[in-house]
Amino acid sequence: MANSLTVEQTCLMFNYISKKIIENKPLLTEVDGAIGDGDHGIGMSVGFTAASKRLNETELSSINDIFKTTGMAMINSMGGASGVIFGTMFLGGVKKAPLIEQLNLESLTRICESALKEVKLRGKAEIGDKTMVDALEPAVEALKESVSQSLCLIDGLKSAEKSAKEGVEKTKEQYPKFGRAKTLGERAIGHQDAGATSVWIIFRSMREWVEKNKN
Ligand code: ADP
Ligand code: MG
Repeated sequence: MANSLTVEQTCLMFNYISKKIIENKPLLTEVDGAIGDGDHGIGMSVGFTAASKRLNETELSSINDIFKTTGMAMINSMGGASGVIFGTMFLGGVKKAPLIEQLNLESLTRICESALKEVKLRGKAEIGDKTMVDALEPAVEALKESVSQSLCLIDGLKSAEKSAKEGVEKTKEQYPKFGRAKTLGERAIGHQDAGATSVWIIFRSMREWVEKNKN
């Protein structure tokens, strides 16, 4: 099992993430519809369609370029809370990073750590507030733990995916502090957060792509 992805492979993986988010548009819309305004699937699809298009027409010379291009495309195309939040996640991941030429478990972990920090700075949500942070933060913790155990990329991704999914499940029991769901209080209990669901799909897609293409 190869442990790192080239710029070209990372770009293919991002195209796969886009495809999976677009495929899951009905699920994301349904989840957001239960406690939000039901536009999350549409927004994420628009954002990832724009990101894929930009990635495929841009000269990409580093992993940094991939994250930057994706984040900018999302911010410019999506609008709404999630445009800023998810755009910041990708942009923020490489904001202060040195040049990254390969995506391996260590570089992915540093990117995700920085992404989480920037999202929290920007959106002010903390763990337990029923947002995408509730999937992203456990995924980052899982990645850090995987690095400390010197796991290979696929095992780190499996662990991050599992932790993100557990985070999504926990959002069902949380009271929302942001967005439209905030006013629902008790009525939001039992429903998972839409943005957290997207984060889980993103990690699941990365795991699937690496599993299928790096053996
Ligand atoms: P909108 O709230 O504008 O309708 P979306 O429905 O596309 O945008 O996205 C909503 C998702 O964005 C939420 O499910 C939540 O995960 C995420 N979100 C909203 N506000 C914040 C915030 N301040 N910090 C982190 N995530 C947030
Ligand atoms: Mg919404």
